[in-house]
Amino acid sequence: MPENRVYNFSAGPAMLPEAVLKKAAGEMLNYKGSGMSVMELSHRSKWFTEIIEGAETTLREIMNIPENYKVLFLQGGASTQFCMAPMNFMKGSKKADYVVTGAWAKKAKAEAARFGEVKVVGDSSDKTFSYIPELDPSTFTADADFFHITSNNTIYGTYFASLPETGSVPIIADMSSNILSEVIDVSKYGMIYAGAQKNIGPAGVTVVVVDEKLLERCTDDTPTMLNYQTHVKAGSLFNTPPTYGIYIAKLVFEHIKELGGVAAVEEVNKRKAGLLYDAIDNSPLFSCTVENKAQRSLMNVPFVTGSDDLNAQFIKEATEAGLVTLKGHRSVGGMRASIYNAMPEEGVKKLVEFMQQFEKQNS
Ligand SMILES: *Cc1c(COP(=O)(O)O)cnc(C)c1O
Repeated sequence: MPENRVYNFSAGPAMLPEAVLKKAAGEMLNYKGSGMSVMELSHRSKWFTEIIEGAETTLREIMNIPENYKVLFLQGGASTQFCMAPMNFMKGSKKADYVVTGAWAKKAKAEAARFGEVKVVGDSSDKTFSYIPELDPSTFTADADFFHITSNNTIYGTYFASLPETGSVPIIADMSSNILSEVIDVSKYGMIYAGAQKNIGPAGVTVVVVDEKLLERCTDDTPTMLNYQTHVKAGSLFNTPPTYGIYIAKLVFEHIKELGGVAAVEEVNKRKAGLLYDAIDNSPLFSCTVENKAQRSLMNVPFVTGSDDLNAQFIKEATEAGLVTLKGHRSVGGMRASIYNAMPEEGVKKLVEFMQQFEKQNS
């Protein structure tokens, strides 16, 4: 880590791999002999064609995406997917099941309710979303058009360690804060979507991985830009895509591949999260707001001291030590360390050391 960089524990936009930033810096003024930066390239140029095709190819490789799934690079963030998915896919029974495990899940559910009948089959709002509710498949809507989950709850630090049993009902997952963090079986999902700014690249790109079977439901009465088929047919080049973001995403995908793929990254992520949760669980001062260890996120780790003053002091002193953006979300309070793929293990070690030192001085 260069001296002028900090360990940034932000929930998003978040850290990017240093190797990616350096590569982008090196290519900034003259991308591959074009005499232009990627930002200045036509999205129809041979250089950008190579970038967007390379991004898709490498993502398919590292996520092991089956042939019958389309990969799209869209705009509008995960938040646009909240409406786009139901707008395109609530076309059969016009019913969908949602698990409300956080603020993002709640927003997703509210958008779906504009397009049909939404059933909440699990809700953990009674305890500030500090757990994943137990689900009873007998309460699921048998003829639902889809079943929606937020696979990782960025604000509260919980995640679905296993998928609900939904039978033939396709699962749509908002994977914004844990895509590429661990190996998953894409074929178990109807669709996966993720805003890029946590584990993929800069804000402005949204990655969608969608089963062709779902795409058969798209109809022409959907507004052009909000119709998945528009983007499938145009290879995500219907209009000007977020070119620079897609370029950085490509570099991140290649970086993951160089590291040994998602499985290798997962191993490091488990080590990083293990270090931090152990430190919290063994601490006389800090405690984790998620009690059920099986539901603890590998990516977002909320923790508290029990005193607002101490929390504030911790955040202030950590910032001075180069450990920044540790303030928890206002709905949970305390601290939150987001330790996405790009957070080096060294950064987590530094945080743990800092916590132990703070503990000694304040207990
Ligand atoms: C950050 C986040 C969002 C919001 O993403 P935008 O790209 O800002 O719309 C949605 N869902 C989850 C799980 C998130 O972490």
